[in-house]
Amino acid sequence: MSLSERIVALDLWHLALPVVSRRDHGIGSVAGSVEVIVVRLTAEGGRVGWGEASPWSVFTGTPEAAYAALDRYMRPAVLGAAVGDIAAVMERARRMVAFATDAKAALETALLDLAGRTAGVPVWALLGGRCRERIPLSCSLADPDFGADLALVERLKADGIGIVKLKAGVKDHRFDMMRLERLAADHGDLDVRVDYNQGLAPGEAMARVRDVAELAPSFIEQPVRADQFALMARLRDAIDVPLLADESVFGPEDMTRAVAEGICDGVSVKIMKSGGPRRACAIAQMAEAAGLTAYGGDMFETGLAHLAGAHTIAAAPAITLGCEFYQARYYLREDILAEPFPVEDGHVVVPDRPGLGILPDEDKLAHYALRSTVAA
Ligand SMILES: [Mg+2]
Repeated sequence: MSLSERIVALDLWHLALPVVSRRDHGIGSVAGSVEVIVVRLTAEGGRVGWGEASPWSVFTGTPEAAYAALDRYMRPAVLGAAVGDIAAVMERARRMVAFATDAKAALETALLDLAGRTAGVPVWALLGGRCRERIPLSCSLADPDFGADLALVERLKADGIGIVKLKAGVKDHRFDMMRLERLAADHGDLDVRVDYNQGLAPGEAMARVRDVAELAPSFIEQPVRADQFALMARLRDAIDVPLLADESVFGPEDMTRAVAEGICDGVSVKIMKSGGPRRACAIAQMAEAAGLTAYGGDMFETGLAHLAGAHTIAAAPAITLGCEFYQARYYLREDILAEPFPVEDGHVVVPDRPGLGILPDEDKLAHYALRSTVAA
């Protein structure tokens, strides 16, 4: 029962999880299933900690790369380390593997879960303590069949959810405008955001973003490619609606440049981009210091990664725009947690039990595994 206990095992599962529908985004589509990597660390006393990498090949990387980063390259940084040596292990992992931010997020989540369970405190307590117990939940609308999304909106509203994010820039501009006008007309009570996921070409971005800004969504996210900082800055200057950076800002290093070059009014903070909860909290602090807002984004995750995000936002006062941890409830056919990911009245409820607060169901891991380091 001590943070000095040694970590003696690292196990992995590569899962393929069926989803309920196709989703189109500016950088690519998702259909059929999503793949995640689950990691379990075991300490010498037998206590365990869990984490998840939720890669998307067009965004952060591939599941195969995340699996190899953890299995082969980060394993030596972890085995034999003390449960409490989170910062030291993550520094070693960072030096051993470039990029692989989703694998680093999985590792740091598992370390925090294990340390939290060992110390008897929630992960948010290890990240500096709690500033909020509930986080407003946003659900993304990305179905090529808008009728299906409208049916989803009715279900979301019945569940108390008041925020939606429309994925735009895939079909033509008229489809985006039609959907936004319809949402404004029929669901004026909703907080509507727009996310292009880098979908606009430089020549079309200014006219389209200005048009969409006329409809006054709460923010417009990442209209153009991640590396087009100068164009992001020009778009920001051209509209009154806040412009958010997502793909442009992975870690604190990108945030420094985003602030210096004035590319955004806010940032989508994701542990899968930052490389773990601690660096996500750092980005949120940098945003606040620069006078920017912050949003709790995610990738295609299970409830396990959602929990890591929820504890992160619970400890990050600057993340005031809510979160989008909807996949466990509204996108996966079945989540992997042993209990439902906690959502009440349109808010994620941050667990106050030790570690992440909820364990994965190991039978589900075995059921959905494409491969694992654990013998079947
Ligand atoms: Mg985004």
